[in-house]
Amino acid sequence: MNDIEGLSNLEVAEVIMRNLDEGFRFYMCKNCNYVSSDLSFMKSAGTPCSNCGAIDAPQKFLPLSALLLREMICYFYKRAYERLEEWKVKLVEDIRQRVGRDYDGEILIKVRRKARGLYAKDRDWQKYLKKIKEGLLLDSDDEAKKANEAFLLYSAIPPEEYMAIVTMTCTLLEVLLNDLLALIAGRGDVQPRMSREEVENVWGFRRKKELFKKLTKISLNKAIAECSEGSFYSDWGEIMNRRNKFIHKGSPLLIGLDTAEKSFNLAKNCPFVFAELQNRFAIVK
Ligand SMILES: [Zn+2]
Repeated sequence: MNDIEGLSNLEVAEVIMRNLDEGFRFYMCKNCNYVSSDLSFMKSAGTPCSNCGAIDAPQKFLPLSALLLREMICYFYKRAYERLEEWKVKLVEDIRQRVGRDYDGEILIKVRRKARGLYAKDRDWQKYLKKIKEGLLLDSDDEAKKANEAFLLYSAIPPEEYMAIVTMTCTLLEVLLNDLLALIAGRGDVQPRMSREEVENVWGFRRKKELFKKLTKISLNKAIAECSEGSFYSDWGEIMNRRNKFIHKGSPLLIGLDTAEKSFNLAKNCPFVFAELQNRFAIVK
């Protein structure tokens, strides 16, 4: 069951903030670890697990810590959105004062993004300025420079909320990976058999990936590709990389709208991906 399908990310954030487990009311069987989205399994007493037949063994699939992290990510996503809206209003006003023209906020952002994209490619300041001038139908380079001063004030530094979204999404995914590894390593028929505490003491993504492969004989990358569509694994790698650079080297500029959006999508989709992984690798036979 997926009752967040078709909603925008902002709407998803609002829905999850109202109800922590909205959109993925999955339950798992305590007896065999099977994850089901069948509500009757949870709600009607005596409904057996469709995998092992155990009765009255369901529990919520995601731990409370994961639910809370997701809710926090949604809170910061909504705040980031509101902040951008505030910036847009200020940007429109500032540009009106500097060049004496009225623009739609969305158009300003689009023109700036295109110009920046161009600049990122060949670092040509004149081309950048020309793009601003053309995009905003300005008469002179001087006006384009004035408009750019406004852009620098309102869009050069990404909102702090993005850092929170990205770091918390990395933590959320780590919590889920730890949980999955603990269930697999506790199955009894896999080697090495490890306690949850031992699994949690395996630090770092690279080591966790190695442990996953040792336990399942398949790489995490391949397993995720088989359980999900799109770029879940590569997006995960990318946000982790940027999170690490931000935390260890202090580079907030590496975390912009795209990274925040990718992180939010990962936070939104991770219950579905991890439910699939659990049903494939963690079922007690
Ligand atoms: Zn079961």
